[in-house]
Amino acid sequence: MGIANGLPAGFNPDAYDAIIVGAGYAGAVCARRLAEACGMKVAVIERRDHIGGNAYDYVDDAGILVHKYGPHIYHTMNDRVNQYLSRFTEWTGYQHKVLANIHGTLMPVPFNHTSLKLAFGDERGEALYQKLVATFGENKKVPIMELREKNDPELSEVADYVYENVFLHYTMKQWGKTPDQIDPSITGRVPVFVGDDDRYFPTAKYQGMPAEGYTKLFENMLNHDLISVFLGVDVRDILKVSTSNVLICGRPYGGEIVYSGPLDELFGLDLGALPYRTLDMQFETLPIDQFQPVGTVNYTTSEDFTRITEFKNMTGQVAPGRTTIMREYSKAYVPESGQTPYYAILEDDNLELYRRYRERVAGILNFHCVGRLAEYRYYDMDGVVASALNLSDELIQVHK
Ligand code: FAD
Ligand code: UDP
Repeated sequence: MGIANGLPAGFNPDAYDAIIVGAGYAGAVCARRLAEACGMKVAVIERRDHIGGNAYDYVDDAGILVHKYGPHIYHTMNDRVNQYLSRFTEWTGYQHKVLANIHGTLMPVPFNHTSLKLAFGDERGEALYQKLVATFGENKKVPIMELREKNDPELSEVADYVYENVFLHYTMKQWGKTPDQIDPSITGRVPVFVGDDDRYFPTAKYQGMPAEGYTKLFENMLNHDLISVFLGVDVRDILKVSTSNVLICGRPYGGEIVYSGPLDELFGLDLGALPYRTLDMQFETLPIDQFQPVGTVNYTTSEDFTRITEFKNMTGQVAPGRTTIMREYSKAYVPESGQTPYYAILEDDNLELYRRYRERVAGILNFHCVGRLAEYRYYDMDGVVASALNLSDELIQVHK
């Protein structure tokens, strides 16, 4: 792999069989597969000064490995995704655990058997738990919005407590809306767990952290003779899309284009901006061994921030006498302001706007959208990898 800062003078797009925009999972997986399976020469264009997209990690000034764009924990049910990524990294056995700070008491989230006893006391908590088991069965996930619909006084007691103390304030901070006002799939990501397992992803088949970090995983994936990476280049400076073709450096481009950035930006937001939430991430290094007992503590009833992550607790790094933590503050994303569009806001009007942008590129046969931004989806890492594997399958069929 070559990694260069900026494009060389006289950059010739026709020297490449594919131009890939973005060096996150979407772009990196497609780049590697096209290079490897079809011998295609690939240019990856990335506007940041690093590879890895939002999964990028680096060692901070205190020597602690941190995740620049928020805590990333690998988890998947997908055998193919796991097999593919495992070519480029080994995994630690890390199992993510989250505690909610509820009025000063730390309780497991997803809310489970232990949380019930902490919230209601041993005896009442056990009785309520048995009611949940009788209703849903053991080791079952129950989305809070589903639990709230149950017409039973004991189940309502649990639902009201969890809604108010786990979901309401956190969701207001994260989305500026109540849980009833957002797509149920979002709170459904963290269902009540009828069981004792206190992991955040209790049913994930594969889970862990890349043994040498995410950036190393991307270095390995992009390390191929046919892949060149150009950092610090905003593709909009060289790429223009119309409804029928794509111009790169002012000339029609005949190779494949894989785009993993926001679709509205390619059109100067001319139909309106696709709405997102962004985050302010405040990092702090403390002169102590450990700040909190688990990787992440969610502040569900107090504070302005949503959660605090302590990276050493996730990576297993040993660094006595110092630790780096990070607080996340969520707010509305302002387009073209230098902020990062982290979370698509899954509402009908926004999805319709996205559909209209997507329709514009539908007729350009060599232009392909993939990834959390370009598909305007709430994908975890494995979802993006699965989508990129599918797209690259199609392209490989054409080019091999
Ligand atoms: P990105 O990683 O965003 O990559 C797209 C790249 O394209 C970026 O590097 C961008 O700079 C580049 N780009 C965009 N426009 C242009 C342009 N015009 N020119 C050049 N380059 C451009 N997933 C999990 O599985 N587990 C987790 O624990 C987890 N935690 C998360 C925490 C947070 C706070 C967030 C926001 C996300 C989290 N995710 C997690 C989701 C995960 O980050 C994404 O699914 C994944 O990184 C998306 O990969 P991608 O390639 O689609 O997009
Ligand atoms: N959520 C909540 N309280 C919690 C955890 C999650 O209200 O303690 C809700 C909130 O709306 C959040 C959503 O569930 O946005 C999804 O949570 P997840 O941890 O999956 O979010 P992410 O890690 O993607 O930011």
